[in-house]
This record gives sequence, structure tokens and C-alpha cells, in this order.
Amino acid sequence: MSPAKTLPPGSSIGILGGGQLGRMTALAAARLGYRCVVYAPDDHSIAGDVAAGHVSGAYDDKAALARFAAQVDVITYEFENVPAQTATFLSARTSVLPDPRVLAITQDRLTEKNFITGLDIATARFVEVSSPAELACALDTTGAPAILKTRRFGYDGKGQVRIQNGTDAASAWRQIGEQPAILEALVPFESEVSIVAARSRDGRIECFDLIENEHRDHILKFSRVPANVPDAIADDARRIAEAIATAFDYVGVLAVEMFVVAEGGRHALLVNEIAPRVHNSGHWTIDGATVSQFEQHVRAVAGWPLVKPWRHGRIEMTNLIGAEVEDYAEWLTVPGASLHLYGKGAPRPGRKMGHVTRVLPTNQG
Ligand code: AMP
Repeated sequence: MSPAKTLPPGSSIGILGGGQLGRMTALAAARLGYRCVVYAPDDHSIAGDVAAGHVSGAYDDKAALARFAAQVDVITYEFENVPAQTATFLSARTSVLPDPRVLAITQDRLTEKNFITGLDIATARFVEVSSPAELACALDTTGAPAILKTRRFGYDGKGQVRIQNGTDAASAWRQIGEQPAILEALVPFESEVSIVAARSRDGRIECFDLIENEHRDHILKFSRVPANVPDAIADDARRIAEAIATAFDYVGVLAVEMFVVAEGGRHALLVNEIAPRVHNSGHWTIDGATVSQFEQHVRAVAGWPLVKPWRHGRIEMTNLIGAEVEDYAEWLTVPGASLHLYGKGAPRPGRKMGHVTRVLPTNQG
């Protein structure tokens, strides 16, 4: 179903998924006068805690999904593993943005990488792998070391195994659960960056400044803005995001994660993956820019114009992971620091519990 006209304040936005991305989207939507209704499998969700309504149901519960669709004027999603069939089912009832077709492509690392390379955008070398025998052949193409990744449901390093020279193909295959996969050459990157871009219904695109990301144990730990890269690389990143968003006829916010490599003294970008949603590396925009990624996303799906984001200073965003959240009070007196807690229960290892954004004057170290 194609989107209705611009949604007036007071309209309802449905959010598929009940995590922190949905929570921060609902807060941004509330500030613009919208009501959000969250759909999530559990009875309670941290997005639902700050929303006007909550519908609980499995992602294949058609009766619950229909009840949800009947309450809202547009539906969006906060995580990319919402089954594409769920989004398609809902789109027959009300508009779903970004289009469910985007989910179908980005949920599968193989179709995603083929889509990216089809736009003449570079990625790490990759080969489809469906058996241990194919894995052995694929290694001839990528060379070792390489990374074997399941095609579906991988995140934060899950569903991945690193393959060194001499690693037994059969055992690597077993480690990823004997699922359809891709083998990727290991990229000797200088840094990891991401770009967060918004595209409106009328095709206008606004990008936030390029973000430099540091991971610990495969989980994002720090984001710094601006990224420490040559201007030409920041321009390339913007062009890549624009090309991807345009090719998808995308509406909303997306993030593109990339590696910065140095080849013969020249820098270049390789795209790692696309997140068809607001992104952890964009959380700094709440405190560090004149418009946040969450507000841009709400503006886009509501049919409002986007605005060019201005950054307030130099930014450092720190994720509070697992038990780190227990030291939250220490951040309360740090000048320039804004604390965000997600209201999750017990801090399990690896669980994203909150974040802190520090906005530093550009002349301060
Ligand atoms: P992913 O699940 O694809 O986002 O990967 C998680 C993290 O693993 C990335 O942020 C990188 O730090 C690392 N990684 C993934 N793919 C590669 C690769 N081909 N080469 C080097 N590091 C990688």
C-alpha cells in the first residue's frame, strides 16, 4: 500500500520491534506530536514503556498483526530481522516504510552483497558457500585468513568464524551450524566507519557526518565524529549511502558500515553491510546534532521534509555494555556528557544497556 499524504501530528506510527532503537524512535516521535504503538513478541518491551500503545504477538500471528495495523497510520521497524513476510502482510493493510523489499535483500548477506556490488560499490571479496566442499574451494578465491558468515541472522559477530591457513573446513562449517553462508576475505582495515543517511518520500537525502567506530568483542564500543579520514573518503561514503538509498527507493534512515583500507598509500572504502534502520553508531545525533537520526526517520516515514543536520562539536559516544551500566552515576558529573539508559533489566554480558554521548568543543582534546 502506498503511503498516505503527510501525517499530521496526532497520527499514530507503528514500530515493529521493542528494543532501544524503537524506544528512542518513539521518544523522537512523541516530541513531534505523534503517538507510537509498538509491536513485539513479549508482553512488555522497553520501547513500549515510552509509547502510547503496545501490541504483543509473534511475528507470524496474523490476527495480532492485523489488530496492530488497524491502530496505526504508518508502520516502520527497528530491527532488520523482522520476517519479510510479516512486513509484506502488514503492507497490504497500511503503508510500511522502508519498503519490505529492502528487508528481504538486507536480511541475507549474499543478496545484500550482490546488491551492493551490482551498484559498482566495492566490498571484501566474497563467495557463496553451501557445503564444506564448497568452503574448501571458496578459500582458493578469498585466500586465508577469511571469515565464514551465515547468510542470515548474524549480528555482533554471531554466526561467524574466522578461518586461518590450516583451519579444517568441516569443523568451521559445523561451528556456524551447517547453514548457507558466505566466505569473505579478511580485510586488513585501517579503521571502521559508518554513515547514517535519511531519505524522504520525495527522494531528498541528508547524511550525518561520517562516524568512526571501534568494536570490542564484535560489539560497538565507541563512535567518534568526525571520522579521522581524508575528506575524499568522507565524500565517497556519502556518495555510497546516496547510491544505496536511491537504488532502494528508500524512505527512512539507513546506515552503511564500511572498512577504510589503504591500498598503495591511497585510501578506499569497502562496504561491509547495510542496516535498513536507525543505527547504534548514530545515537550521538540525539545530543550532538541539531536533528537526531530518530527524528529524521520519523520525518521521513511521516512524509515531512528532512533537515540538514548540524553537528554541535566533536563527539565521542560510548556504549554501556553489560555490567558497565552499573557505573552509570560516574557519568552524571562529566561535563558535556549525556547519559541514556535503556531501562533494560539485568545487565547480561554483551547486552547494550545504555550509552553516553560526550560533545566536546572542537578546540578541546
Ligand atoms: P558483521 O557482523 O559483518 O557486521 O561483522 C562484525 C565485525 O567483524 C565488523 O565490524 C568487523 O570488525 C569484523 N569483520 C566483519 N567482516 C570482516 C572482514 N571481511 N574483514 C575484517 N573484519 C571483519
